Amino acid sequence: MAIIRKTPFDLRVSPNFGDYDATRAGFSWAEVTRRMDGLPGAGCNIAYEAVDRHAVGAMGERTAFRFLGRTDPDGGIPTRDVSYAELARLTRRFTNVLRDLGIGKGDRLFVIAGRIPELYVSILGGLRNGTVVSTLFSAFGPEPITTRIQLGAGQVLVTTELLYLRRIQKIRDQLPTLRHVLLIGEDGATTDIPDTLDLPTLMAAASDQAEIAATTADDAALLHFTSGTTGTPKGAIHVHGAVATHYATGLYGLDLHSDDVFWCTADPGWVTGMSYGVIAPLLHGVTSIVDEADFDAERWYRILHEQAVTVWYTAPTAIRMLMKAGPELARRYSFPQLRFIASVGEPLNPEAVLWGKEVLGLPIHDNWWQTETGGIMIANTPAFDIKPGSMGRPLPGIDACIVRRDSSGALQLVDTPDTEGELALRKGWPSMFRGYLNNEERYRKCFVDDLYLTGDLAKCDADGYYWFIGRADDVIKSAGHLIGPFEVESVLMEHPSVAEAGVIGKPDKTVGEVVKAFVSLKRGVVADDALRLQLLGHARKRLGAAVAPKEITFLAELPHTGSGKIMRRLLKARELGLPEGDTSTLEAGG
Ligand code: ATP
Ligand code: MG
Repeated sequence: MAIIRKTPFDLRVSPNFGDYDATRAGFSWAEVTRRMDGLPGAGCNIAYEAVDRHAVGAMGERTAFRFLGRTDPDGGIPTRDVSYAELARLTRRFTNVLRDLGIGKGDRLFVIAGRIPELYVSILGGLRNGTVVSTLFSAFGPEPITTRIQLGAGQVLVTTELLYLRRIQKIRDQLPTLRHVLLIGEDGATTDIPDTLDLPTLMAAASDQAEIAATTADDAALLHFTSGTTGTPKGAIHVHGAVATHYATGLYGLDLHSDDVFWCTADPGWVTGMSYGVIAPLLHGVTSIVDEADFDAERWYRILHEQAVTVWYTAPTAIRMLMKAGPELARRYSFPQLRFIASVGEPLNPEAVLWGKEVLGLPIHDNWWQTETGGIMIANTPAFDIKPGSMGRPLPGIDACIVRRDSSGALQLVDTPDTEGELALRKGWPSMFRGYLNNEERYRKCFVDDLYLTGDLAKCDADGYYWFIGRADDVIKSAGHLIGPFEVESVLMEHPSVAEAGVIGKPDKTVGEVVKAFVSLKRGVVADDALRLQLLGHARKRLGAAVAPKEITFLAELPHTGSGKIMRRLLKARELGLPEGDTSTLEAGG
């Protein structure tokens, strides 16, 4: 597919990352750390850098978060702006709420709430207090909540009255470590539920002056559970020092400038919603849009338009859903302020990159990272050409490579371009996870010498662009070929009838595995045998008989994780009649 060259229009705001080689060569993590304030005695605290530092002087009056509520009966979208100064006051109060309850450094706070102001205040107030914060996706049912709070030995839980009554009250006796539950009532109403405390009452009584906890860069700050795409979710531990990565990637990966209006659509229950929905934009003093409502194509176009969003960070599933809704809807709105769009979480099909250019006027920039990496590692950024289908190049401070095991099992660096292998990163970036909760052995296995092995297969071309092939667990082995599901899915997506495709390997006596595709269709398209034959033919023509799918099943929707990833392992289990395994992160209706 043709390279997308950047034009002066793409660069109308001078990019932070303009010269690839020079910026990387001149980069040092120590220099990034110097750009932040730090705490006395070489201390470090994410919340201090994100909020306190900006709360004084003129910056204090700038809007940190603009919260958008659900559409009111007149069709309006209610907004509530919280300035940096107000955010600082609220987070200090919350720090005092925790202190008054005897919760301190190293204790664990879980937060389960929709994208309401209290969620953000609890996260930042918890971090200020040195308390380790774990946010859980608010759509989780009782089972995933229980396992995660048990695994994390949570002492405090902040949640809403409604979520508590529906999902948590009945599991409370299975959570013996939980000392306090703080509730947020509906529409500001006071709560009065046995064995719980009313958070607004405690907040009102707390002082808005609180010393920041004496944390260091190596102290645990966040506990994130992975998406569970490939198996049981793992709890990844991150430290306060990760703030240097949040800062650098906000600067170079998302090109944040202080006057930006930034919208990260991810929920803080997932790592993207924490690193880029909370921390990185605050570090750069930008205004973040937070939408409480769920995905809705029209609402999303309207938000981009009405809020004059300048930088937008979203995910492939959302983009595919917008594509499914058709271009006419997008054309009812205009986005003159929008200058940069990025996406993460799954491979971004080349079709989707180009769709951005056609419909929104800007290509979509794919970037790659994981819960374990804590921040963006490989990215397409504003100044550089895009090769659609590639996730871009390593950011400053990040050394990536491709490795393979030789016949003796030893790891070898692959330096021939376009050769497949496992994607690895050189240890030492500040937001690298510091452990899997209660699974030291698994953590150790991720590292060989000075390399972190990502579990993803990729290749690197002669220009240094990385191409995702598939997760090591998802790659299909057919008649001696290694087939990445992404390549097959992207070709199916080229067909005008296809909305989304998920591809698996189905065991076969002769060739090992055959390629099988599950396809959901665009609105109004009829699923019939004629279309199936057409798609099989299209794929064979584009991919060749060895790689093209042999079977296609139409599904109304593919199963996704709550963070928006296609769950191929579930498609496979269902196809083969095997147990579904851990489905705690499966999106409702999947
Ligand atoms: P689990 O580890 O529990 O199976 P998960 O790996 O999906 O879940 P996350 O940490 O949320 O959990 O996702 C990271 C993974 O998502 C990456 O390892 C990669 O497989 C995939 N991914 C993220 N961004 C991209 C991208 N731009 N292109 C391709 N794959 C991506
Ligand atoms: Mg993973």
